[in-house]
Amino acid sequence: MKRNMLGRTGIEVSELSFGASPLGGVYGAFAEQRGIDAVHTALDLGVTFFDVSPYYGATLAETVLGKALHGIDRSRYVLATKVGRYGDRDFDFTAERVKRSVHESLRRLGTDHLDLVQCHDIEFGDLDQIIHETVPALRALEATGLVRAVGVTGYPLAALGHVAEKVPVDAVLSYCQYTLQDQRLATWRDRFAESGAAVINAAPLAMGALTSHGPAPWHPAPTPVLEHCAAAAALCRSRGADIARIALQFSVSTGGVASTVVGAADPQIVRRTVSWIAEAPDEELLHEVERCLAPVRDQGWASGRPDNQQPEAQS
Ligand code: NAD
Repeated sequence: MKRNMLGRTGIEVSELSFGASPLGGVYGAFAEQRGIDAVHTALDLGVTFFDVSPYYGATLAETVLGKALHGIDRSRYVLATKVGRYGDRDFDFTAERVKRSVHESLRRLGTDHLDLVQCHDIEFGDLDQIIHETVPALRALEATGLVRAVGVTGYPLAALGHVAEKVPVDAVLSYCQYTLQDQRLATWRDRFAESGAAVINAAPLAMGALTSHGPAPWHPAPTPVLEHCAAAAALCRSRGADIARIALQFSVSTGGVASTVVGAADPQIVRRTVSWIAEAPDEELLHEVERCLAPVRDQGWASGRPDNQQPEAQS
């Protein structure tokens, strides 16, 4: 497994990272032992970077990940979690809450330090508070050694860019925006990097939309996007291929990011993903799929407060 530096942090991460939201049941019920086996399989196959949040399954994902990592040498993995989001509508980016949150995560994850702590889905918060209160609170924890690096995550790239330009952050995590269907992250990647932040691309399978089983009912994409993804999956099937394979190969091989985060709670899925990303994509199929998705290329959805969609236009 190839490794990259996480921006300027001096932390090395695997190019494929383990997304732990399925360990919170975000994609439906899962067997805990299968989830734990998935983590161990990932480690065995060279995945060293794990991304989680207290939000996933209302702390369940952190608890299961903590169980899986128990007894494993701490130098074998890099751990990223988040602060500020605790429920679908439960956000708290105050310094007091995020400090408490870090201590809670440390306990659940059974570790004495977190490699990366990210403000989770900043577009639902007050960006000025993130800049002037939340990130500084995390920097204070960094000074104590509990946290090694500080980042932000969210959907509107302009909100991430606004914060990264106003306050130094070590990492920016964007999701669903460097996939076969949506490549808007490509236009921001260099700006994030210039601000000193590592870029992390999460959800290369568009949160399940680019899989043969399709998305969960909660998927926020507009219907035409989901319909075109389903048509692309059917096209792949008709060619004897799995859309997830080419979607993963595309994002990992051309994303130009520090790491690509893929969610899994099953060891077989992890094995498949790791073996797929070692292969080059079928270029002919790739072009066919891109043509199929062209009518909905770069189409997404609104996430967060209206004034956080284009914060630069407001300031
Ligand atoms: P994803 O695009 O990685 O898709 C996950 C879905 O695809 C799951 O149903 C999984 O079972 C399935 N899948 C994974 N590998 C597969 C394979 N080889 N074949 C077939 N199906 C496969 O979406 P995600 O899990 O939501 O995102 C990845 C991770 O990124 C999350 O777990 C989380 O850690 C992070 N993330 C963070 C944010 C944020 O901070 N706001 C948002 C989205 C994702």
